[in-house]
Amino acid sequence: MRKPKLRELREAIKAIFKGPYTIKSFPAKPIEPYEGFRGKPEYHEEDCIGCGACAEVCPARAIEFIDDLSVNPPMRRFILHTDNCIFCGQCEFHCTTEKGIKLSPQYDLATFDRSECVETVEKELALCEICGEVITTKDHLKWIARKLGSKRYANPTLVMSYEDELGGLPEESVRQEKAVERPDINRMLCSECRRKVGLREIWG
Ligand code: SF4
Ligand code: SF4
Repeated sequence: MRKPKLRELREAIKAIFKGPYTIKSFPAKPIEPYEGFRGKPEYHEEDCIGCGACAEVCPARAIEFIDDLSVNPPMRRFILHTDNCIFCGQCEFHCTTEKGIKLSPQYDLATFDRSECVETVEKELALCEICGEVITTKDHLKWIARKLGSKRYANPTLVMSYEDELGGLPEESVRQEKAVERPDINRMLCSECRRKVGLREIWG
């Protein structure tokens, strides 16, 4: 057996009198995390537009999103698995609105039941009125329309989303027949159907 070096021996003797480096009071008494501490990520529903950027950048795949068309209205569901989270902060850093998801100071997340480590946020989807494809969420379209200002008028889908925000748009419904017509230009459309309507407008 190797004999301990003098430095290690000195540290061991010091530790007997100084006590452990860990905080003695935890978990009986919670500790105050320092400023900028990266704890549990939390969605802020009112500032989240449901774009999905946070799920795309998450290196641990801790955020999944599902477009559920079986419910009425159709919803995009974000499921944050805090048990997979590595607290890297990429979701907060890349959030489109910069406020939709934030890392909180919560650190005491240990549990015996992993089903407790799930947080869910839902956003209503916007569907193409011709083919029924998912465009994005309604909040995302409204956010883009607001961000673009007067430039939104180049895209009728954005104009309609904006007007929907002002309360002027009737409930949209997915049409059964898929052939495009001239009046379709003023419908909520996916990019593919918008292209077909544009070609129909130009070439007849
Ligand atoms: S902090 Fe990192 S690992 Fe956790 S949810 Fe955000 S991006 Fe994913
Ligand atoms: S707004 Fe932010 S939190 Fe919401 S889905 Fe987009 S990136 Fe994620």
